Amino acid sequence: MDKITRRSFVHKFGMGVGATAVISSLPSFITAPAAQPKYTGKKLNIALCGLGYYAEKIAEGLQSTQYCTLAGIVSGTPAKAKLWQEKYNIPDGNSYNYSNFDEIVNSKNIDMVYVVLPNGLHKEFVIRAAKAGKHVITEKPMATSPEDCRAMIKACEDAGVQLAVGYRLHYEPTHLEIKRLGQDKVFGQVRFIEASLGYQTYDVAASAQDINFNDPAEWRLNKKLSGGGPLIELGIYCIQACRYVLGEEPIAVTAQFGHINNPKRFAQVEESISWQMEFASGAVANCNSSCSFNIDRFYAAADNGSFELSPALSYGPFEGKTSNGILKYPEINQQQAQLDGICSVIINNKPLPNHINGYEGLKDLSIITAIYKAAKTGKRVTL
Ligand code: NAD
Repeated sequence: MDKITRRSFVHKFGMGVGATAVISSLPSFITAPAAQPKYTGKKLNIALCGLGYYAEKIAEGLQSTQYCTLAGIVSGTPAKAKLWQEKYNIPDGNSYNYSNFDEIVNSKNIDMVYVVLPNGLHKEFVIRAAKAGKHVITEKPMATSPEDCRAMIKACEDAGVQLAVGYRLHYEPTHLEIKRLGQDKVFGQVRFIEASLGYQTYDVAASAQDINFNDPAEWRLNKKLSGGGPLIELGIYCIQACRYVLGEEPIAVTAQFGHINNPKRFAQVEESISWQMEFASGAVANCNSSCSFNIDRFYAAADNGSFELSPALSYGPFEGKTSNGILKYPEINQQQAQLDGICSVIINNKPLPNHINGYEGLKDLSIITAIYKAAKTGKRVTL
């Protein structure tokens, strides 16, 4: 059996930009990008910190952003830094490593740092960027604990810089639509949600091999660097979708760790997890995340109808239906939309909206911490 990585799964299932035909128009409350006047003012200069898989996706998105541009890099690998400099025309003066990164304080060429490192390193680099006076975006999950999130928020507030979390789906039309359907109660009160995201990231049928947990390529299996398994890495999208569709915060959670097929591989983090979230309205969410099976879907049952997506939480193209028919919007570059959404606010000297700032990241980490506690203790944990 071929090893199915997250990347090959994404490729196999055609989750690439430009892979779909446009079936319906944008919802009326979303202005089509072509209709917006082109911004021609100064762009924010962004330095990407960590040049792995997702940094490549962000760099791609930055090729078509209006409000920001890729101007710098931070990498621990000189050969990789050189390749990026050549590919993206980045001058030596805008190329940093993890040791000399703090010198970025002296750079007038960098306005913002986008931290795309393993989760356990987000806190250190967000705080160092803030102390250097740079605005910061950090990838999800914001950090590996609520305490670290609070320290990051404080560092950015003390330095007078803005802090955003890379929640790409907050700028995606299909997700803006399910948020509207839920929060505006278009089909009545949502009573129940099922949301799941999982990727088979290894050959489940193969016999267990020893893992070097200090190998940088295996950081997702190393608890200190990842903060956890599929819950913190993928399940965060399920938590997010439930929260923004309901427009409510969970008041209690229950959870169960799933079967461990490969105890050597999953010695430090969970392989699969299921969890339930209760909301004050009485709505309940039932969610799953895993490294041993592929799943990507969302279903909301409301009093007078339902709406659903599958694929739902990946890079798209998303497909779904409501009780009224097809639910599908033109595919966008999610990274470009997220970056322009965040940077247009900062350029206009406005505070970032709640749905994308550090406090939003903190809420998710508080919920994730409660879910892990519930799974470990077998008890219902209130929030
Ligand atoms: P990756 O392993 O491909 O890249 C990680 C980068 O960090 C590499 O360039 C690596 O050299 C560098 N690094 C520095 N110190 C390291 C260390 N001690 N151990 C390991 N790597 C180290 O990972 P990725 O998939 O790019 O994920 C990076 C971040 O982006 C994570 O926080 C992840 O959750 C997030 N992410 C977000 C999305 C999204 O859709 N928003 C998708 C994938 C990843």
